[in-house]
Amino acid sequence: MEPEKTKNDLSRRNSITATAAVGGTTDLADPGVKGAEAAKLPPSWDSVADVVIVGSGAAGLPAAIRAADGGASVIVVETNYDIGGHAIISGGNTPLGGGTSAQKKYGIEDSPDLVFSDLTDWSIVQPNGWPDYRYNDRAVMRAFADHCAQTYEFLVANGVRFKDIPPDNQGGHNLGNSAPRENHLTWTRGAGLESPNARGGTSLIRPLEASARAKGVRFLLSYKMTSLIREPSSEQEAGRVIGITARYTPRTMPGQTTLLKSFRSHGNIEATQPSVHIRAQKAVIIATGGSTSNLNFRRMFDPRLTEVLQVAGEPYTFQDGSGELAAMAIGASLWGLANQILENGDNIRTQRALATRYNYMTWGLESPIFPLVRATGLSVKDWQDLILVSQVGKRFYDETKGDYPHGNVYNEVNPYTPNDYRNNENIKFNPTKYNFFNAAVAMNEYSEPPDYSAGPVWAIFDAEAVEREKWEVAPPYVDPDGYFFSANTLPELAAAIKSRYQAAAMDGATLRATVARYNSFVDSGTDLDFGKPTPKYKIQTPPFYAAWATPLVHDTRAGLRINARCQVMDMNGRVIPGLYCGGESAGGFNQHGLGRCTTQGYIAGKNAAAETTEK
Ligand SMILES: Cc1cc2nc3c(=O)[nH]c(=O)nc-3n(C[C@H](O)[C@H](O)[C@H](O)COP(=O)(O)OP(=O)(O)OC[C@H]3O[C@@H](n4cnc5c(N)ncnc54)[C@H](O)[C@@H]3O)c2cc1C
Repeated sequence: MEPEKTKNDLSRRNSITATAAVGGTTDLADPGVKGAEAAKLPPSWDSVADVVIVGSGAAGLPAAIRAADGGASVIVVETNYDIGGHAIISGGNTPLGGGTSAQKKYGIEDSPDLVFSDLTDWSIVQPNGWPDYRYNDRAVMRAFADHCAQTYEFLVANGVRFKDIPPDNQGGHNLGNSAPRENHLTWTRGAGLESPNARGGTSLIRPLEASARAKGVRFLLSYKMTSLIREPSSEQEAGRVIGITARYTPRTMPGQTTLLKSFRSHGNIEATQPSVHIRAQKAVIIATGGSTSNLNFRRMFDPRLTEVLQVAGEPYTFQDGSGELAAMAIGASLWGLANQILENGDNIRTQRALATRYNYMTWGLESPIFPLVRATGLSVKDWQDLILVSQVGKRFYDETKGDYPHGNVYNEVNPYTPNDYRNNENIKFNPTKYNFFNAAVAMNEYSEPPDYSAGPVWAIFDAEAVEREKWEVAPPYVDPDGYFFSANTLPELAAAIKSRYQAAAMDGATLRATVARYNSFVDSGTDLDFGKPTPKYKIQTPPFYAAWATPLVHDTRAGLRINARCQVMDMNGRVIPGLYCGGESAGGFNQHGLGRCTTQGYIAGKNAAAETTEK
């Protein structure tokens, strides 16, 4: 990368604020809001663009394309070896409504006003009683409602091909009750869309990548933004964000030295120096995807989210709150924190695969990062085939009921009258079904200070269950390195469980007693402890197995305070000039997924490109 000398007009002010925020287990004790040291202007800028976008996922790519459409030069900085973030490995179910061409084609009536009234309706709660929309920021919702259909058309215009079927209510959450708004993407082998996991999200991201590259957007891969560079504020004028510092973050496969590289080129800015300074002439957009992978950050919202919980999206990317932390370090505020609490939408989910650390979905053997994933995991056809036990070896739940409390979608509340408190009478409350997480993340028998962590959840089953499920219980389908164990007796199985997440070894006598009691329920046909409907199969035929079945963290629903233009706000409610944010790193919007992220990227890109910095 050719350094570009700091221009004279940049040294108008002779000091800038640059404070480090590296994410991971970052110490939050000193966010640097007041105490930030004024650092010297970088001696040189390594690169310069009108708009610098941090993160290349569902918010970052639309922001890049929309900013380029607005005439801006754009650099996207991405810490991973390839683009896409959670979005490229997502299911590709994309909630966008408000009167899209797809809705019109299939005769579905919708409008921005209907989207707005749906997403601000205080009278709606989820089936476990959590209010879906009560804590949404009205200004942020209005902006989303007004740009939702535009964003759909923008995605289509930039090469995204949704399935030609009527929008429905499948696969999305918190979309509003009044109209079907969910659009779907599929991934097709051999269509030239290289995918980390062969899922629909690739059909969103690869076309956007191609469009961005064609429009001149430059990509700097394997660089992580570690701080924002801001001019000092005065009484009269809030200091402007004028650039970023980014650190080189190459990735390799375990035990190898060869760098992981993108399917395409390494990016079209080549650089390998340890750190770079990138000048943003108009604005920086934070599109870093939230904070699920940052243990300390996520525990600010919910102390139960200890390290035992794995994270959807890893090990492809690790959204570690570094965008939020860098912005907080220059004075930004967080917003809408209530939305991050558990049992809300799919902030936290049950596992989809057993016996693997990355258990939100089954990773295919052909995935280019399979050596990092290590095991496909085992999908469960019938939850009667196993019991779930805590780290001490005790059952705690009806295994057939584990689920997550998904938010409202079209027709879920039926009949539905906007803003009528009696809507609650038409919601199918089922608190028992949705209490799995309380049980799984709050149990702490065995655990000790300081965290009293719940410890892992283990699925216990026998050879007959393996036969019924047609599981292959050997690598690469299971991960014996901490996530799958077997033995010929139950006490031996308990002793075999070696996990760094166990507070202490499982007691063999306890596990044997648990299984004996469960087997007696199969004999009697009644689960006296947790009401599993007619327990079907005894666990009695060796070998016996223990497979990782711990829930995982999925969404970030709280982040930086933004206004309707997606500008980041400070602790005094003032706009931080030159700083934008969209997607899971932005707060004030309780909705799962790609709809809010693509739309906020679109809004941020449009407004960032239109910034004027003349004084
Ligand atoms: C497995 C899975 C399936 C999903 N399925 C669906 C679905 O079907 N429908 C739906 O609506 N939603 C789905 N979601 C959610 C959806 O993918 C996310 O909400 C969305 O991708 C978030 O967009 P984003 O731009 O905020 O973050 P991301 O798409 O995650 O992009 C953030 C990017 O920023 C990068 N980054 C982070 N920090 C830095 C830094 N400091 N410097 C440089 N780069 C950085 C990350 O590496 C990442 O590439 C799914 C999520 C997962 C994990």
